[in-house]
Amino acid sequence: MSTEPNLPPKKLGRPFKNPVDDVVTQRTRNSRLLSSCQGPHDFVSQHDPWYSHACSKCGGMVTKQQYHWYQIGIHHGLHAINYPAPTTK
Ligand SMILES: [Zn+2]
Repeated sequence: MSTEPNLPPKKLGRPFKNPVDDVVTQRTRNSRLLSSCQGPHDFVSQHDPWYSHACSKCGGMVTKQQYHWYQIGIHHGLHAINYPAPTTK
């Protein structure tokens, strides 16, 4: 008498495409696009339920929150260039 449970036989390969893999692949590709951009990004708004803006240079996409914080970072960076920190004597 066998002690193994009565399981269905394993099928080789994947019977259907995993949608999670598609999301991971898309996000990895998007991250690589954004990281490889010469910058600064030139974000333009787009009609997408998740990614509100896309860079016209690299094609990377960001959410509304990411776009907001990127613009604040650019603003602060330009402010630092125009008004450098005082030097100590
Ligand atoms: Zn870009």
